[in-house]
Amino acid sequence: MSTIRHFINGADAGETARTLPVYNPATGEVHRQVAAASADEVAHAIATAKAAAPAWRSSSLIKRADVFFRLRQILVERTDELAAIITSEHGKVLSDAAGEVSRGIENVEFAAGLLHHLKGERAEQVARGVDVHSVKQPVGVVACITPFNFPVMVPLWMIASAIACGNTVVLKPSEKDPSAALWIARAFQEAGLPDGVLNVVNGDKTAVDALLDARDVAAISFVGSTPIAKSIYERASANGKRVQALGGAKNHMVVMPDADIEAASAAAISAAYGSAGERCMAVSVLVAVGDIADGLVEGIRSRIGDLRIGDGTDPASEMGPLITREHRDKVESYVTGAAAEGATVVVDGTQKRFDNDGFFTGVTLLDNVRPGMKAYDEEIFGPVLSVVRVETYADAVELINANAFGNGTAIFTRDGGTARQFEFDIEVGMVGVNVPIPVPVGAFSFGGWKNSLFGDSHIYGPESIHFYTRSKVVTTRWPDHTPAQIDLGFPSNH
Ligand code: NAD
Repeated sequence: MSTIRHFINGADAGETARTLPVYNPATGEVHRQVAAASADEVAHAIATAKAAAPAWRSSSLIKRADVFFRLRQILVERTDELAAIITSEHGKVLSDAAGEVSRGIENVEFAAGLLHHLKGERAEQVARGVDVHSVKQPVGVVACITPFNFPVMVPLWMIASAIACGNTVVLKPSEKDPSAALWIARAFQEAGLPDGVLNVVNGDKTAVDALLDARDVAAISFVGSTPIAKSIYERASANGKRVQALGGAKNHMVVMPDADIEAASAAAISAAYGSAGERCMAVSVLVAVGDIADGLVEGIRSRIGDLRIGDGTDPASEMGPLITREHRDKVESYVTGAAAEGATVVVDGTQKRFDNDGFFTGVTLLDNVRPGMKAYDEEIFGPVLSVVRVETYADAVELINANAFGNGTAIFTRDGGTARQFEFDIEVGMVGVNVPIPVPVGAFSFGGWKNSLFGDSHIYGPESIHFYTRSKVVTTRWPDHTPAQIDLGFPSNH
């Protein structure tokens, strides 16, 4: 059985003492092992990144951009190869995996425009003979810690901009599906990135803690579940680091009485059950306003029985397994619990039988769900859609704004005025109008509010340039144009 190891200074880092199992979720079998880094191994990766930093930040912007143009070409040409790696460890269907790669490519395209993003500002003649300009300089070594559910896209959310800005990186991917990160590191190398600029250490909490406590790590980008995001934010910021820690979600899709019910049902099905609900922007709560509820529930119920659930490598499959057996069991416990708490189980995915030991479950539709029920209050992260019935638009807004999470939300309506008001009222970071999964394109930034993000910078896009750089402001006067004189007063520009 092969072991997935670390990638440090452009090379395989060799044997490690401790390993963890990597499953194929479609069969339930362990098919690889992954190295679990010790604190010393992490320290070696950080020292390597630190040593590579001076040369990388001195490289020309054009040369850096060239790496991203080449990387884009590699990713486009070899999307299928990378998608197959994702599916083998994550379980999502191949078309979904390829979609993830294409969304990650957007971040590479954004990074390729680094010359534009890194432009500073200049003001001439702020005082007589005095000019001011600002520049954006890299922060140093950046640590990136990523979740299992997007093993390509989320690392690219971070490392593309971090590297473009002249930083060097230590990436710690999820131990559940680590192979894609190593593929990306090798693709960067092939694209011309110097060794040591991007290093990958594998492992678990031991590796993460070593990154959070390391003096030579300047910034932490984290994406994962809310409890871990919060603890990462607290520990790393207490250590004086810049931190952005994106957490979990409970995304509500509001359906107004005037909505196109066919379109809304199809959108809800796609957004709730795609990738087996293991997307941080998945719709997990459908808020049915007024008298649309019965038709909406029926529209969904009548169409989900036919969804084809199976091995992600089978082109006929529309939905694959969950990531682990434990996670599958946890997801199913929410369904059982919801029935006990008084929700109506319209379709019970836990009853669906599969003919192998993969981590499969069926799709579930719950109706009459309310706050206070566990299935509503907690992130399930599986193919379970909960319908909450409310009377009015105001009730829908009140429900969403009271929720602890604020990642994404959507409204389905034909009324522009209602949609505009929703955009104004709602306390959520990303909003879709008749778009169920409003993940911003790479030229904008991604981030939730409340318990969905700790820190003040959103990820990728323009906010990532701010996060991964320090600005420096330079005030200049050339002595040959101004008379030398002593003045102990505070410099004034008037
Ligand atoms: P997770 O929090 O379990 O793990 C994320 C990363 O943290 C992994 O690299 C893991 O090794 C590490 N980790 C786990 N436990 C740790 C601990 N105790 N101390 C230090 N590090 C630890 O998340 P996951 O299960 O891999 O991913 C799913 C979660 O991520 C969901 O909650 C989902 O909503 C969230 N997510 C959020 C976004 C977003 O943009 N907001 C995007 C994708 C996923």
